[in-house]
Amino acid sequence: MKKIGIGLLALAALLGSASFALFYTHAGQDFLFSQGAAQMASVDIETFDGLEAMVCGSSSPLPSATRAQACIMVRAGEQMFVVDAGSGSASVLALNRVPLQHLKGVLLTHFHSDHIADLWGVNLNSWVAGRPQPLLVIGPPGVDRVVSGANIMYSQDHAYRVAHHGSDLLPPELGILRPQPIPLGLFFDYDGLAITAFPVDHSPIEPAYGYRFEYKGRSIVITGDTIVTDELAAAADGVDVLFTDALSQDLVEGIAGAADAMGMANRAQVLLDVLDYHASTESLGELDDRIELGQMILYHLVPPPLNGVTEQIFRRGLPSDAVISYDGMRVRLPADSEAIEIR
Ligand SMILES: [Zn+2]
Ligand SMILES: [Zn+2]
Repeated sequence: MKKIGIGLLALAALLGSASFALFYTHAGQDFLFSQGAAQMASVDIETFDGLEAMVCGSSSPLPSATRAQACIMVRAGEQMFVVDAGSGSASVLALNRVPLQHLKGVLLTHFHSDHIADLWGVNLNSWVAGRPQPLLVIGPPGVDRVVSGANIMYSQDHAYRVAHHGSDLLPPELGILRPQPIPLGLFFDYDGLAITAFPVDHSPIEPAYGYRFEYKGRSIVITGDTIVTDELAAAADGVDVLFTDALSQDLVEGIAGAADAMGMANRAQVLLDVLDYHASTESLGELDDRIELGQMILYHLVPPPLNGVTEQIFRRGLPSDAVISYDGMRVRLPADSEAIEIR
């Protein structure tokens, strides 16, 4: 017994000195860092036969320390799109090792700042990753104004990058955003992937689109910002996964009441104004009763729940199996199957 005790002590001392050497010597630090650096430098190139989505931003203009603003990445084979690029979304894509060289375009649902603020970050990161064509920015009429504004705003940044890294590494023409206004309806049909734009009601913001993706018998709808309408129900009926805008009336009214009580009448009024142009949790519960739906997943959370209590309040009215998403959450829909894998 005594011998075992001494042996354990010796082992602990040995491990202690080994971890001391790892943390406090340059060789040890370099070894540990090399393990992490490989992870930081790599991208997720795993191929998957089916339709895949990743939440690259689950929040809204109401701030969150752990969530970027609106962004959903959709991948079908070699084709990749991002729906909206709110503030922080470029970092979430990078942190989750999304291989942005495959990015074909950013689909904008509408032009509120919480959907476009990281457009240039997504452009820059995919340009640096080696995207072989200019990044398309696809959206309702008016998208050309957003894109020409972004290209002007970042024209000096663009010039600095080319001057610093050289035009062989960063071909200048691939770093300039290219607008593509689209009408409602089917606008993309290539290599098995079909994308349709449908109208949503985010009034007074017009036009505002939602998008439906179909690939190898699987489907995803992304609403952008909207209340629940018959058009939305028609677009989402029969779909495997619905990513939907979601607002908790109880939470928004609670925050507005607190702001008003503290004399912040402007803030209170702005909060109350947003109640009429997002999908309330109650209306999402009713939508779920009306349509056939594989899985409802909430993003663009108004407000983003900060803890267990606010999440419980947010769930009021929702279907019991609705998923409140988080940044980095992935959904996989294997081809020609009914499986819905959430990681
Ligand atoms: Zn909006
Ligand atoms: Zn929004």
